[in-house]
Amino acid sequence: MGFLDKVLRRGRETQPRDPHGIYVYVQCDNCGEKLRIRADKRHDLMRDYETDELIWKKEIMDARCFQIMYATVVFDGAHHVRSRAIEGQGHFITEEEYLEVPGR
Ligand SMILES: [Zn+2]
Repeated sequence: MGFLDKVLRRGRETQPRDPHGIYVYVQCDNCGEKLRIRADKRHDLMRDYETDELIWKKEIMDARCFQIMYATVVFDGAHHVRSRAIEGQGHFITEEEYLEVPGR
């Protein structure tokens, strides 16, 4: 396990300092697993030069039931989310929902 994995793991309690990271939270509809995916502003976003939007596409594999979800998030030039969609059995959740302790 690399240094970055440890930082990300610890980040479940406290968000690490990460000026280049954008975090997207997804929950699997099949098994309920919550996932956090990091997009790097410098490397992972594709710019659409016609609209000046930034597009992030990610193939996400659920670590529990191994289903694949395809997420697409469109950001404006200031990295605010404009629209987002998931193909497959899953939906977006908030950071608060991600951190929520299961067993309600
Ligand atoms: Zn699942």
